[in-house]
Amino acid sequence: MDRLQLLELSKKYGSPLYVYDTEKIASQYNRLTNAFSAVKNLKLNYAVKALSNINILQFFENLGAGLDTVSIQEVQLSLSTGIDPKKIIYTPNGVSLQEIEEVAKLGVQINIDNLSILELFGQKHPEIPVCVRINPHIMAGGNSKISVGHIDSKFGISIHQVPHIKRVVENTGMNINGIHMHTGSDILDIDTFLRASEILFDVAKQFKNIDFIDFGSGFKVPYKEGDISTDIEQLGLQLSERFNNFCTEYGKDITLMFEPGKFLVSEAGVFLAKVNVVKQTTSTVFAHVDSGFNHLVRPMMYDSYHHITNISNPEGRDRYYSVVGYICETDTFGSNRRIAEISEEDVLCFHNAGAYCFSMASNYNSRYLPAEVMLVDGKDYLIRKRQTLQDILQNQEIVNIKKKTKTKEVVTA
Ligand SMILES: *Cc1c(COP(=O)(O)O)cnc(C)c1O
Repeated sequence: MDRLQLLELSKKYGSPLYVYDTEKIASQYNRLTNAFSAVKNLKLNYAVKALSNINILQFFENLGAGLDTVSIQEVQLSLSTGIDPKKIIYTPNGVSLQEIEEVAKLGVQINIDNLSILELFGQKHPEIPVCVRINPHIMAGGNSKISVGHIDSKFGISIHQVPHIKRVVENTGMNINGIHMHTGSDILDIDTFLRASEILFDVAKQFKNIDFIDFGSGFKVPYKEGDISTDIEQLGLQLSERFNNFCTEYGKDITLMFEPGKFLVSEAGVFLAKVNVVKQTTSTVFAHVDSGFNHLVRPMMYDSYHHITNISNPEGRDRYYSVVGYICETDTFGSNRRIAEISEEDVLCFHNAGAYCFSMASNYNSRYLPAEVMLVDGKDYLIRKRQTLQDILQNQEIVNIKKKTKTKEVVTA
């Protein structure tokens, strides 16, 4: 994205601000599609939770993508764009049977990740085919919070319990039409991924009516220069060949699915925040921006690295800064970072802010959620207004607590 345009946008829409470039989203989508061009039926379902603005969902729909959802609310958001429910897959974890039934009623593909609900659902709705989420017990993922396929993980049905799944199918007469895994975020090792895939093929061939295998996601993207990322092209070559062989063995051209979030939108987004104060202490120079972990929690929650540049003074001499926010708690975006000299009111740009940034933002400290802007062919569109005090007060009820007697006083803060 062009630096001067970003500065212009931060003036036009105010600070802080999220900006998403749809050109980058499309190029990532096409890259993944091309890597798997040898597969006859490929379906990419964008993981809505990474960035769930409905305009972004609409953009994916226009690209031909399906949508991967984890809650009934994400399903409803997706449907509000007019997408065909058949293009949505619902992969919840630990939700009630009732919610799953409601989603099934909407015509969305259900993916179940525990035996107890699978059995209850199969008994009540044997006519609705479901996908099962398998836990292949493979250690993958960038850190323990996003590694979700290992043996102690709460996600999926263990590969060792496949005989139980088969028994449930026999007892209920239900139909398994898909096999799914999602082993975690930030996968680097293609061999690990391929090993997990073998496990899925092994499970899939034990069911007669498989229409698709969903390999989840977890592709790693670069966060800074020199970062290694998942070699999508290599993975495409190896997995496509293996998948095509499986289709031959199985005797049917089934669909290969992925459900990436980060890979598709991380690099397409930036977060712009203005510097309120530059504070020199005895040890550190702090640059305080007009935001905090309320708007971008990943550095605090996952120790994630977000590259930070000063777009107001790109030619300035590099100095060392700790970039922090205005929250009344530690909210460090980056420590000891080399950044072009920062003055108060400069605009800092946080890179890789497309995935799990706005969608994880909160109103902590009663601050407003930032505005969001989408670039289409270089033209800017406001896709979410900045909040106002009205939004913060919206659902709060005013209760008049009266003092009744002298002895039973209600203490109000
Ligand atoms: C979060 C999630 C994804 C997306 O993961 P990324 O690392 O963002 O690609 C895919 N599938 C499921 C089931 C998820 O929960």
